[in-house]
Amino acid sequence: MSNRYKILIADDREDNLGLLREWLSSQDYYVRCARDGREALDIARNDHPDLVLVDKVMPEVDGLIVTRELKREDPTVPVIVLTGREDTRRAAIFEDSGADDLIMKPFQYEEVETRVRTMLKKREVFRALEQANDELRRANERMSRLIQFDDKTGLYNFRFFMERLHEEFKRARRYGNRLTLAMFDIDHFKAVNDRCGHPAGDRVLKQFGEIMVHSSRETDLIARYGGEEFVALLPQTTAVHGQRLAERIRRVTESYRFHGSDDPGPVIRITVSAGVATYPLNDRIGRPEDLVQAADAALYRAKAAGRNRTHLDQHSLVAAR
Ligand code: GH3
Ligand code: MG
Ligand code: MG
Repeated sequence: MSNRYKILIADDREDNLGLLREWLSSQDYYVRCARDGREALDIARNDHPDLVLVDKVMPEVDGLIVTRELKREDPTVPVIVLTGREDTRRAAIFEDSGADDLIMKPFQYEEVETRVRTMLKKREVFRALEQANDELRRANERMSRLIQFDDKTGLYNFRFFMERLHEEFKRARRYGNRLTLAMFDIDHFKAVNDRCGHPAGDRVLKQFGEIMVHSSRETDLIARYGGEEFVALLPQTTAVHGQRLAERIRRVTESYRFHGSDDPGPVIRITVSAGVATYPLNDRIGRPEDLVQAADAALYRAKAAGRNRTHLDQHSLVAAR
């Protein structure tokens, strides 16, 4: 494929078409011809021309309809409308169809050449802009992934969790809904690293994250809080249901055969402790941070009581009855 520009000419008059084609081809453009509007649209859809020259008056689908349709499908394709010098509604052509330029018939080749060149330059600028936009969009997507997600586990990260916690807290307060937070901390995880190595520990974290996601509902927000600590934020969920989820995760975890590497290798066993608290059952919770603190305190008690268990925040528990 050469870099030659592709030009589509649509004109129902064979003499116009022939002359233009001959002349543009001699200027080293790659030229396709259509004898009516429908054919022009078909060719444009398959061939993606760099420029379209279209006669205003054609039977059935006229040039303005073709232009409008081309512009609707690809606003960046330049379209020049050919019209007679006697045409009194030339200005309306742009408004009616979105055409980029106009050439009066009978045309002079020098004029056609100038217009064609200018339009193709414009097309180049459009293309460069489009490309820059694409790159920007991709960079933005990468950025928001980096901002929201944790690399190691693919779960939402701490930052995103905090944002959502504040939002959900506001919503719960406004509508009087319950909001439950379950915090998880893997037991004796340091020993896993010491025994199996840090990379194996990383894989265990990822698998634990998968257990959390598979055990919860789509509306639950699962995130890595940091290190070997994870959270589940459960909108419109009671403390009892939150504890049920935490228990489910705890039970699956204690019986799960974790793998530290791709080859079968030795199975790694872990357990996890969890703490659960609910707003507004615990009426001491006035801010999002208080909910985190209450869940964390419950988690601490689960650890102190011997690990591999879930504890419900006392005040959420009292009110939950
Ligand atoms: P427990 O929670 O039961 O009290 O004991 P622990 O050993 O899990 O707790 P501790 O807070 O003493 O240690 C946490 C360990 O988690 C130590 C740290 O190296 C490990 N850890 C934290 N983040 C990562 C990580 O991203 N990858 C790996 N492999 N280990 C991590
Ligand atoms: Mg910890
Ligand atoms: Mg731990």
